[in-house]
Amino acid sequence: MHLAGGRKGAGIISAHHSTSSGPDSLDQLIDRAKAPVIVARADHPISRSEISGNALKVLYRLKDAGYQAFLVGGCVRDLLIGMHPKDFDVATNASPEEVRRLFRNSRLIGRRFRLAHVRFGQQIIEVATFRAAGAPMAPEPDLDGVTDESAEEADDDGLDRVHDDRGRLLRDNVYGTIDQDVWRRDFTCNALYYNIEDFSIWDYVGGTDDVRARTLRLIGDPETRYREDPVRMLRAVRFEAKLGFSLHESTRAPFETLAGLLEHIPPARLLDEFLKLFLAGFGERAFDLLQRHGLFKHLFPATAANLATETDGLAQRLIHAGLANTDRRVAEDRPVTPMFLFAVLLFGPVSAAAQRRFESGMHPGAAIADAVDEVVAVQNRRIGIPKRFSIPMRELLALQPRFHRREGRRALAFLSHPRFRAAYDFLLLRAEAGVEDPEIARWWTEIQELPQDAQLQRIGADSAEGGQADGPPRRRRRRRGGRGRKAPAAET
Ligand code: ATP
Ligand code: MG
Repeated sequence: MHLAGGRKGAGIISAHHSTSSGPDSLDQLIDRAKAPVIVARADHPISRSEISGNALKVLYRLKDAGYQAFLVGGCVRDLLIGMHPKDFDVATNASPEEVRRLFRNSRLIGRRFRLAHVRFGQQIIEVATFRAAGAPMAPEPDLDGVTDESAEEADDDGLDRVHDDRGRLLRDNVYGTIDQDVWRRDFTCNALYYNIEDFSIWDYVGGTDDVRARTLRLIGDPETRYREDPVRMLRAVRFEAKLGFSLHESTRAPFETLAGLLEHIPPARLLDEFLKLFLAGFGERAFDLLQRHGLFKHLFPATAANLATETDGLAQRLIHAGLANTDRRVAEDRPVTPMFLFAVLLFGPVSAAAQRRFESGMHPGAAIADAVDEVVAVQNRRIGIPKRFSIPMRELLALQPRFHRREGRRALAFLSHPRFRAAYDFLLLRAEAGVEDPEIARWWTEIQELPQDAQLQRIGADSAEGGQADGPPRRRRRRRGGRGRKAPAAET
């Protein structure tokens, strides 16, 4: 398995896919930028009744103050295809400071490129000034809760501190006009502007045609756009999974040579992108697509290597079962945790690493905890797993062998372990995927439902056959190993 295989041919791509709506020379871009297709209200289905009232308030107040105000990005796309947008983004020619002055309930975030967040209770409407060529499109390091003044101090490149009296940057060409803003965006379907002035849609890039055809097409030259920001490859897959759009050939073709660029993205940004891919209700589809497009191995190299060598397909099944389970929970509005996702995705390599330790006589719980540390250390170089997820994940995995012990008071005590519930959920998943004997899962399901005296009877009655199956441990080893320093989380 070549983990870096995708990088081999990087830089060789020359295929240039010019399309009717993807102009390729700068002159053409600028020409086109001057002439948006304007889709009148009568010719598109977006009705104000589907737009969040707070977003409308922001748009109208900007307009009434004499500024241009558009809804832009995912919300316009989603409304066009009849989906409920998860948030509403506004673009305007008002500077961030002007926006801030218009809305008392707003604050500025961002560093080189400032955005206003206008808050209405739980809902935040993001208002961005049109970006010019010099503006970053990818998210910047979070300055959450930082005041304007300190944000200014935090600027260390010295470039963007010079503002004119309207807050526009003088030395850095960061803020611009709508016909500059449009080219900074990634896909044509994400570059449609809904104008509050007359409820029309402005389309510079053929986005309405692509939405109609359900096609994801990058604006401009795909290779250049991916090199600028390789995360756009993951965004393509996210929109493919979420919207059911298909990738235009020119959107997909560069993956083969450019996928390796993902390895240079900061692990914290990949974590954000990972969560958007896997915690939004379409994780199973996203996983399949990431694998099919050859991107998964750059995010989870140890998992991909394990999947590539496994002959029984069990780890693959466990991942599918776990992602389907998470998607179901999202659909039912039940809570989901990244901790569980990481447990599911890393289970294969953790099992393999633990197996080596079992074989050298280590206690199962300790072996697993140790294996988790090894696998997480490697994983953190790609997607940074915060400790608040990796620590409970380690515990959840290290507790799994305890389900094999079904006799004695220790078995009962496990029921009141603070992590029992999470560990039990994972047991069910393992049983569902065929990684664990379903009889064991059934036993633990039943015992929880029994009254206490029946529970006591059950652990007595089952003692003849229980407790034998948790790998190589012998009773003495269990006591020592279980309390050992290496696996404080293994048994408590
Ligand atoms: P979602 O429905 O998942 O929020 P979205 O399209 O709104 O999808 P966001 O990440 O919220 O995606 O970004 C909002 C808009 O900003 C996008 O529609 C796109 O126009 C632009 N954008 C975001 N990230 C990038 C990027 N990395 N490169 C270019 N444009 C981007
Ligand atoms: Mg969005």
